[in-house]
Amino acid sequence: MTRKPHKKRTYHTTMMTAEQYEESLQKLNLEVYMFGKQLHTVVDNPLIRPSMKAVAKTYEMAHRPEYKDIMTATSHITGDKINRFTHIHQSVEDLVLKSKMGRLLGRKTGCCFQRCVGMDALNALSIVTYNIDEKYETDYNKRFLAYLKYVQKNDLTCDGAMTDPKGDRSLPPHGQPDPDVYLHVVEERNDSIVIRGAKAHQTGAVNSHEIIVMPTTSMRENSKEYAVSFALPSDTKGIKYIIGRQSCDTRKLEGGMDQGNLLFGGHEALVVFDDVVVPWDRVFMYKEYDFAGQLVEKFASYHRQSYACKVGVGDVLIGATQTVAEYNGVAQASHIKDKIVEMNHLNETLYCGCIACASEGHKEPSGTYAVNTLLANVHKHNVTRFPYEIARIAQDIAGGLMVTMPSEKDFRSPVTGKWLKKYLRAANVPTENRMRILRLIENLTLGSAAVGYLTESMHGAGSPQAQRIMISRYITMKEKQEAAKNLCGIDE
Ligand code: SF4
Ligand code: FE
Repeated sequence: MTRKPHKKRTYHTTMMTAEQYEESLQKLNLEVYMFGKQLHTVVDNPLIRPSMKAVAKTYEMAHRPEYKDIMTATSHITGDKINRFTHIHQSVEDLVLKSKMGRLLGRKTGCCFQRCVGMDALNALSIVTYNIDEKYETDYNKRFLAYLKYVQKNDLTCDGAMTDPKGDRSLPPHGQPDPDVYLHVVEERNDSIVIRGAKAHQTGAVNSHEIIVMPTTSMRENSKEYAVSFALPSDTKGIKYIIGRQSCDTRKLEGGMDQGNLLFGGHEALVVFDDVVVPWDRVFMYKEYDFAGQLVEKFASYHRQSYACKVGVGDVLIGATQTVAEYNGVAQASHIKDKIVEMNHLNETLYCGCIACASEGHKEPSGTYAVNTLLANVHKHNVTRFPYEIARIAQDIAGGLMVTMPSEKDFRSPVTGKWLKKYLRAANVPTENRMRILRLIENLTLGSAAVGYLTESMHGAGSPQAQRIMISRYITMKEKQEAAKNLCGIDE
């Protein structure tokens, strides 16, 4: 089906329910590929559905009175009550609540719930479109605010698309043998621009109503066709989604307890833009190459804060580890108690970082509140490390059975079931419970959720070196040296 890319669709009014969200996705006409075939039903596909359910949780929780402060906000443009995932942060308190929301949803889903990237893209654009207009007298911020109103009114999920495939990393965008390895404009028309390229590792892409594209790196003048940001409906003609595999993903096809997490999951996709038309009213940056780096930095800082989600997933893993220790009858051993304390220490240290960068937030000229860049980068840098140590301890306490345990089918079999019940039993709990909790730990540390808890912790929102560069840029070394020199009497 061909439709004009800028056609506004009417979804439900402000604050969809989880059911309305699912219905709204069913109306999309996405071009999705998996295992070499095009999918005709996306929402009901058993490999994708758990990830849709995780996003749906962000809608469901917003309707629960006990979470209303965390999950909802008041729109600064309409005064309406909105889902916090579509909100532009208006205070330090908003930033802190965003971190708390991430932890809460990580704990509820035990995986990546995907919706943060769009929230972070919206907030970054609210700042940068304003700053571009100040310098060049453009009207990007006006366009952006009209778009934001549409997103808030319809409670949309947006995919924030930043990472280009990048080809040969030693070459700039304009110097690549294949010019399309960085997304760029191939044609300018009176009413639109035409885009070619791709965005890699797109979290939650096929669960999104909209896709917001941003440049992947800072740009120089000779790469200005690559300095482009825009938003489109996710089913715009020419946008193609190729679903990425996750470790042990076909466990989801089996159903049952071997999946570990029976309710939720995540997904990523390679998104190809095959000469896609973008109307000018959806363009938020074009050729202002000197602002590409600023947009990357603002988005990256917000998204590094968003890794509060891993604290919530850490809560689940710690809870599972304590449970398996009890099931194995070792919970009272002093070294086990100490290891559980260590896991909590690491996890709460992560929490300190995402709360600190929010608490030290500031107001940008646009009025949007931004996180403290240095602390957001320190937080995300810790996230590239601590979940691995938490996972290591979880595997230590869980024991080898986690990876040698026979399947649920063997457990249910009239022939083998009795042996598994007898020989996999530990302390006085049903063998099935022990198997379930081990499968959850396997899922979080080796299976499909380990994509979210481990590798995504490493590379999502930028790989570790990206944070080290930002840390080196933002530390105030001169002040530290002055403090030291003052104390020992050096006067230079
Ligand atoms: Fe959100 Fe975390 Fe998933 Fe990123 S990894 S989209 S921050 S839940
Ligand atoms: Fe991510």
